[in-house]
Amino acid sequence: MRTLLIAGNWKMNGSKALLDAFASAFAPPALADRVEVAMIVPFPYLDAARRAFESTPLKLGAQTLNPEASGAHTGEVSASMLGECGVTYVLVGHSERRALYGETDADVLARAKTALENDLTPILCVGETLEEREAGRTMDVVLAQVEAVLSPLAPTARQRLVIAYEPVWAIGTGRTATPEQAQEVMAGIRGYLARLDTTLAEGMVLLYGGSMNAGNAAELLAKPDIDGGLVGGASLKTDDFLAICQSAG
Ligand code: 13P
Repeated sequence: MRTLLIAGNWKMNGSKALLDAFASAFAPPALADRVEVAMIVPFPYLDAARRAFESTPLKLGAQTLNPEASGAHTGEVSASMLGECGVTYVLVGHSERRALYGETDADVLARAKTALENDLTPILCVGETLEEREAGRTMDVVLAQVEAVLSPLAPTARQRLVIAYEPVWAIGTGRTATPEQAQEVMAGIRGYLARLDTTLAEGMVLLYGGSMNAGNAAELLAKPDIDGGLVGGASLKTDDFLAICQSAG
């Protein structure tokens, strides 16, 4: 049985006070054994988050990384720095990075490789725009994004990834994909993985992201190919996020 993962992506939001609020909310044992929870916080909060979350089951994630090991890259952060701050997960290919900062599939692959080489777990984000969905291109777009990263990786490296399906039209819009829409695409991703390797397909943790909240999480997470969530807005509210985590597992 696959682990369920709920990851909260704060994006460029939050505060140190909010870290403490999450530390208190998750201190009492409240999660099923099968459920892992990660908080993906802005870089300046990572070290404080590690300390704040010490007596909780919360794991830490970062929102991006630079593919180079070190050097003249003003403003950037390396994988080894993230490791030193106690980071477990790192997002690669989030649609906001692709759209706002011009990250290409090649950039996403380079980041995923560096993350893997540094024992970080990349969460590869993929998803179609509304225009692509309406043109009937959803599966082509999503599988091309998955393939661009998976096919160059060695089979053992592929197994260490998590994939998040986040339809761009559902992010921050309040317009969640229906459980059926999400399941259809995620079954398609698992089908693609099965064509590469059935063990890979069975083990891969697939997350849904896009306006997931305390009200719709249970129905989404009940679908057979949805193994968790990548939660934006609702991960900034302790009660909502805890409720999402408790509806998993
Ligand atoms: P929302 O949950 O705010 O739609 O954001 C989803 C997301 O982009 C998580 O990475």
